[in-house]
Parts: sequence; structure tokens; C-alpha cells
Amino acid sequence: MREINVKEEAQNLYERMVSLRREFHAHPELSLREFETAERIERELDKLGIAHERVGETGVMGVIRGTGEGTSGRVVALRADMDALPIEEKTGAVYASLNTGCMHACGHDSHVTSLLGAAEILKRHEKDFTGEIRLCFQQGEEIGAGARIWAKSGALDGVYRVLGIHTAPDIEVGHIGLHVGTTFATVDKFTIEVQGVPAHAASPEEGVDALYIASQIVVNLQATVSRRTSPTEPVLMNIGTMQAGTSYNIVASGAVIEGTTRCINNEARARVRETMETIAKSTATAFGGSVTIKWQDFADPVINPEANVKEVSIFAENVLGTGAVVDRPMSMMGDDFCEFLKKVPGVYAFTGTGNVNRPETRLVHHNDHFEIDEAGMVSAAALYAKSALEWLK
Ligand SMILES: [Zn+2]
Ligand SMILES: [Zn+2]
Repeated sequence: MREINVKEEAQNLYERMVSLRREFHAHPELSLREFETAERIERELDKLGIAHERVGETGVMGVIRGTGEGTSGRVVALRADMDALPIEEKTGAVYASLNTGCMHACGHDSHVTSLLGAAEILKRHEKDFTGEIRLCFQQGEEIGAGARIWAKSGALDGVYRVLGIHTAPDIEVGHIGLHVGTTFATVDKFTIEVQGVPAHAASPEEGVDALYIASQIVVNLQATVSRRTSPTEPVLMNIGTMQAGTSYNIVASGAVIEGTTRCINNEARARVRETMETIAKSTATAFGGSVTIKWQDFADPVINPEANVKEVSIFAENVLGTGAVVDRPMSMMGDDFCEFLKKVPGVYAFTGTGNVNRPETRLVHHNDHFEIDEAGMVSAAALYAKSALEWLK
């Protein structure tokens, strides 16, 4: 295979990627409802002459088959997630979301664009390799639903390596973040419904106050981390919503609490679930109520094998220069890319989208002012293309 300057080719696509990314940004769609996004991706693939098929309802897989000879003939996969979040955008950007209450606040607009950029480069060089590149535009990442559809569909069968890339505001643009081992935590969502008994506010002893019980549960559950977990073990619990009651003068008959837990392995995850259930149930029982607890398993940990991180580090430094790769320590975020890694050896990498001179690009994901330095897409597109070409050798 002849040497291809993917960095330069990605750089030449910069303007195109910026305008495409802004178009995706203006038209965000929620998880598993990415209908327009999927069609837009398909139109771009059509323009490039790349065959595609749907995976699930809204996932899109583009397939580039090499027409050259003399390389391994392997199959490699590149993954970009494509969904947005239920957030009202406050950036004030000219290309801000046109869909009220929905925003690309996790950078997935740029993931899709970077992969389309890489697709253009790879299609252009299809004569230089044998084998197959699967471009995985994955739906439903934010609710831990899409990657399972891909794993079940057979789209990942026979794949030699997979690469996923995510934006990172904490990494300076032009750099790639990698980490050996556990990179992201497990993700669970829990919903606790508290059942009480309504009564007149003047006769609380006749009722069971679900609002009071829910409040106690919110406080008591904090002990899961502070009293029931070793201080040296990362466990996270966040309660994000609590709804209760119908009127100021009625003892609330129901309450609902929602939150998420994050752990670094599945053993800790099981222990945390059990502790929380014990606390919630006993708190409710103490005041005459009861609870129903529902768990939704969003993601296993994302674990990068050392050997594959080494490979991708070399590719990244080769393309972006010595010193371009930084360690990105484990975080308690999560990603259902774990489903890809369960089937295929590969790497979850980060592209720096932070710029010290632009504070808005340093904001954490899911912030309503979230913004990226779009030059991070050049590094991502180059790394996608380089990794595919190297793995196909
Ligand atoms: Zn996100
Ligand atoms: Zn994300």
C-alpha cells in the first residue's frame, strides 16, 4: 500500500466538515429518533458513491470495499455516534439548534462529520487496499440503546479492529487522548417509585407521606458512596430528578426519584445496586410506605486493551506528530461502545476539541453552552482514516 498523507487530506476537508457539522448541529434529534440525521448521512454517502444499509431503524452502515490487492483483506470498523440530547441550547450560535428542547451538546454532530470526512479519504484510496471498511453511524448512544442493536445485527461479525472517537473539551485541539484499561465507567439508570397514602394535611397520621419518604431516601442513599464504599474505590451516584405530590394541603401519595450510578466494574455495580435497594426499601418501610425500584442497564465499562492502544498511539503520532498523544485518565462517564469492544478488539479514543483561548470549548459535555473547536474534526478524520488503512495492511 502506498503512503497516503491523511492529515493533509483531512485538512483539505476542513471547510466542508465545518459546514456539514453546523448543519447536523442545527438539526439535532433524540436517541433512536435520528430519522433526518440518518437520511442526511445517507445522502452524503451517496454523493461519495459509498454503499450503505440501515442497522436498526436509524443506524447507518456505510461499506467501502477495497479494489486493490496485496493487503490483508481484513474487515475494520469505524464508529461515530449520532444522537443529541433533551437540552435547550443556549449558545446563541448562528447554527444553533432549530429543534426546540434538543441539542447536540455531546459533540456527536462532529463525530458523524469526522467519520464522513474519513469516508471521503478512504473511498478516494479504495484502489490501495483489499478488504472492507464499515462506517458505523450509531444511533441511541445517550440512552445506552444503539450499540446493542449493532452487536445483535451481525454488523460487527468478522471485524478485525474497531475505533471509536469522542470529543474531549479537556484536551487541547490537535491532540488525541488515549488510556489503557478502564476508560469509562459502568452506567445504570434507576427509577424509584415511592408508594404512600394520601390524607388531609391536617391529619398526617392517617396517610403515608411519599414526599417525605422520597426526601429521606435521597439523603440516605448518599451513604451508599460515603459509608458503604471504600474511599479509594470510585463509585458515583447522582439523583437528577424528584417528582412528588399534587397539592400543598395533601399528604403526597406518590413520588418518583430518578438517577444514575457509575462504577468501574460489574462486581461493584452489583454491590451498589443491592445497597441502594436495601436503603430505599428500609427507609420506606420505616415510615409505612413501600418502593418499587427499576434498573436500566445502559453500559458496561469501556476497557481499552493495552496492545490496541499502543497501535493507535503509533498511528496518531505518525499522523499528528510526536507528542500529539496524551493520556486521558479514566472518567465516570460512560459509552455503549463497550458493546463493540465486547465483540471486536479495538480502541475508544478522544479528539481534543478544547481551545485555551475559547472558554466555551472547555465546558463539560451536556452543558447548554457546549461548543467545540471544530479543528478537532481534522484530527479525528485523520485518525479514523489512518487506523483503517494501517489495520488493513
Ligand atoms: Zn453524551
Ligand atoms: Zn457523547
